[in-house]
Amino acid sequence: MRFLHIAVLCLGLAAACFADKVTLKDGRVYEGVVLEETEDTVKIKTARTTLTLKREQVASIEKQEGGPLQEREKRLSALDPSKAAGYLDLAKWLTGKGKEAYDLQTLRRLCAAASKLDASQAYEAQMLLGQMLEQASIRREAATAYARALLAKPGNPDARVRMEDLHQGLVQDAKAEMKDLAAALDLVVQGDYAKALPKLQKSETLAMAEEAPSQIGMSIEALTRDVARRVKCTTCDGVGESRCPACDGDGLIMCSACGGTGNKKGFTAGKEKEGISSSVCRTCYGCGSVLCVKCKAERDIQIRFWWTGTYKEYVTVHAKAGREAEALKTEIELTNYTHKSSKWIVLAISGQPPTVGGKTPCGTCQGVKYDPPLSQPPVDRIRVYMTDINDRANGQKPYEVLPKVSEVYDRAVLADECLRYVNGNWVK
Ligand SMILES: [Zn+2]
Ligand SMILES: [Zn+2]
Ligand SMILES: [Zn+2]
Repeated sequence: MRFLHIAVLCLGLAAACFADKVTLKDGRVYEGVVLEETEDTVKIKTARTTLTLKREQVASIEKQEGGPLQEREKRLSALDPSKAAGYLDLAKWLTGKGKEAYDLQTLRRLCAAASKLDASQAYEAQMLLGQMLEQASIRREAATAYARALLAKPGNPDARVRMEDLHQGLVQDAKAEMKDLAAALDLVVQGDYAKALPKLQKSETLAMAEEAPSQIGMSIEALTRDVARRVKCTTCDGVGESRCPACDGDGLIMCSACGGTGNKKGFTAGKEKEGISSSVCRTCYGCGSVLCVKCKAERDIQIRFWWTGTYKEYVTVHAKAGREAEALKTEIELTNYTHKSSKWIVLAISGQPPTVGGKTPCGTCQGVKYDPPLSQPPVDRIRVYMTDINDRANGQKPYEVLPKVSEVYDRAVLADECLRYVNGNWVK
């Protein structure tokens, strides 16, 4: 997770000065790079994500032509896997002239792709990546990058020196991490799951954690999930859910536009034969309340129609929070409140009690229900694993913190083969 935060922060800083700005009619503002504009949509890449906005929601677009972020998007889109040199060139640009648009995630991918596409670039690409990772204090990954550089140029003194410099710090980090992990495992063996849990949650990505599957038959992540189910959360009494704070458990929020009456402000009486089109509150569509978005509430909404000779007809639609209009539009025209394909007028709209909603995952236990697995954790194997970790942390057994040069590979790119950049995303 730490990697992500750093990347987001860097982009965030850059974005603040050079970003395109899209302002919505409801006042929300998105900053980033506008990737695409069509008649109906505007696509913007922000520091966090890529969004497609409806054109009708957009009040204004301010573009910063020629800013570094725009330049970066342009250069990324021009990448071509048949021209391998472009990837390394762009990586260099991103750490040099284009450093205001720098983000680590992009650099990782560019360097991995450059190395993969053209072995003769691997040395330079991995040295560059290693240097930037070191600057961000991501030392173990930096060592992996230097190891890849060594693989590309065996015996190269620069890569060798960088790795050796990192070694001492990595050994210290690893020893501290191993002691923490061993302490967490000791608590599991003792059956003190409540104390073990927070320590395990911190240990998932630590040194030696990768050996867990072969040593205890499950990853630290799986062990953490197993232990979490054995701990009864005091906040939610083990249910894993708590009452939604936004709607106080009702799944509904009173409509502030009409004060809960379902009618336009100041409306007193209606003429039945005209239906509700002139009187209905346009925010809650006559229900007097809206579904709570926080707990993703859902309910049925009943629509009552009137037409000479037919008098009453009920239709029920199912609505999800924030999408009430979409549900109603399947039956009625929301502009004049008539049936979608006939002349029936809408007499009344009434929301039924929610069938879903009112609960949010408990923040303390992250929504994990108290549900102790029947079988105990494999304590005998955990003891052996723990001893092994302690022995290495105390220097009684060797533990190599630096990656084996013969074993390093480019996980990110090898895993997904996404080498092209189209519309703000890496694609195959
Ligand atoms: Zn709610
Ligand atoms: Zn209302
Ligand atoms: Zn809880």
